[in-house]
Amino acid sequence: MITLRGVNKHYGRLHVLQDIDLTVGRGEVVVVIGPSGSGKSTLCRTINRLEAVESGTITLSGQPLPAEGKALARLRSEVGMVFQSFNLFAHKTVLANVMLAPLKVRRKRKDEAERRARELLERVGLAAHADKYPAQLSGGQQQRVAIARALAMDPQALLFDEPTSALDPEMISEVLEVMRQLAEDGMTMVVVTHEMGFARSAAHRVVFMAEGRIVEDRTPEEFFTAPESDRAKDFLSKIL
Ligand code: ADP
Ligand code: MG
Repeated sequence: MITLRGVNKHYGRLHVLQDIDLTVGRGEVVVVIGPSGSGKSTLCRTINRLEAVESGTITLSGQPLPAEGKALARLRSEVGMVFQSFNLFAHKTVLANVMLAPLKVRRKRKDEAERRARELLERVGLAAHADKYPAQLSGGQQQRVAIARALAMDPQALLFDEPTSALDPEMISEVLEVMRQLAEDGMTMVVVTHEMGFARSAAHRVVFMAEGRIVEDRTPEEFFTAPESDRAKDFLSKIL
């Protein structure tokens, strides 16, 4: 579904992604963990080509990511992204937020976009909040709207970059529960998170990054019970 081969990127002198090889199969859930500054967000943004890479190849369903133009926009819309900050449009209702991209980018009919949006709001448990504005919702609810909005484009895969890091503790589980359900339904997902419970229970693979490299890429079982690298051991000893 998603492959990266020999991907490198610098920010000035900082080698932020170093020889990244990563394969995410269809229906696979890959959790990316690692210390702050290790390149996790940059990795997500390069998969979606919000950032260009200097060398290496990225393919989606076997197709290389085009550098720019309409072809890039189309492929990019195949990969949804959910950020730490939900970035909902404050002056639009929940329903309108979820309908926006299908209307503008996919040029869907309004009734069709609305039907799908309501279906997705139901799926994330927010059907009753369709006509509210983002500010009237809790952070956890807003993030679930952001997930519905990403799903509205019928993406082939979803990238999550620390989707629960900005939330109050009591709201984290409702968002993780929606993500867990998506995973069970077979969505292909790359999830950057510090939620080790989610990594253990929902991930097929855990990718541990440090200083721009993938240091470990293993099953959660293997990673949490017997991390190989000192970097991972050190990281786990600090957070578990
Ligand atoms: P993580 O998500 O793992 O915390 P990031 O991918 O955000 O790491 O950042 C990796 C490194 O790249 C950090 O040292 C960060 O300061 C640097 N960095 C990130 N974005 C930029 C940018 N746009 N320009 C320059 N440096 C950046
Ligand atoms: Mg980050």
